[in-house]
Amino acid sequence: MSAPSPGTLTADVLPRFFAERKIPAFCSADTTKLRAPPGRHPREILTSCNSIILFGALMTDRLFTGSDRERAEEMHRLTGLLESTARDLEELLLRQGAASSIIPPSLPFIVADGKLRGLLSLKHCAADAGFGALGDNALLIHPFYGNRLALAAVITEMAIAPTSSGALPACTHCGRCRAACPAGALGNGVFEITLCKNLTDYVPQMVRPLAWRLMRGKYCARFITWALNRVAPWYDLQATCTACMTACPHFKIPER
Ligand code: SF4
Ligand code: SF4
Repeated sequence: MSAPSPGTLTADVLPRFFAERKIPAFCSADTTKLRAPPGRHPREILTSCNSIILFGALMTDRLFTGSDRERAEEMHRLTGLLESTARDLEELLLRQGAASSIIPPSLPFIVADGKLRGLLSLKHCAADAGFGALGDNALLIHPFYGNRLALAAVITEMAIAPTSSGALPACTHCGRCRAACPAGALGNGVFEITLCKNLTDYVPQMVRPLAWRLMRGKYCARFITWALNRVAPWYDLQATCTACMTACPHFKIPER
């Protein structure tokens, strides 16, 4: 096998890289094809960026049916796997002379316009990249792994040939996720994060109205962003609710 020329990867590099790390699915895409809104495009993080490489680690049954301790362990495993894989990939690309940057699965958080979000919307980037389709529960549905992939990404100035995940699955708008939501966070086809238990379970009920108002103010939102990113690493943050995920027909995936 010939060595890759500077600034490129041969076609076998990424499949082997992810297989060695037990990452079951990945895709690469041209960042000009992403419809990210202003402030959330990869080029606003890395101006010379040409490609995004998205990848997903499988959320095992342990995360949904295990004891509190098992669920916490599985969460740590997933986060650790995604972060170490992203760092290894960034390093691989940097060694080829391509400026690159990781997009981790969780931190840093950004608070703006009353919403809490990550650096990029990995789910929307993945849908634009053809890695899967978005469901009414705002989760990505992958053709083989359903809604069971936890995502991370690396953006890079290297031009990498886009991959295809094949025929995409579709949300059937069956309404099961909306019916399963204990907080009414999925009404009218819109995911309302300030109602979702994965946020509200961390914010005492008494302070929620004030907190949501402060999240809408430009300067307050910046302060909350700063404070949240300093405090969050000290907390064992994890999904307290997965009802809209497990209720979806795309939760059940083929035996492996
Ligand atoms: S439960 Fe039904 S409506 Fe909700 S995301 Fe899944 S397929 Fe779509
Ligand atoms: S995670 Fe739970 S609270 Fe949040 S939208 Fe899904 S079902 Fe509703």
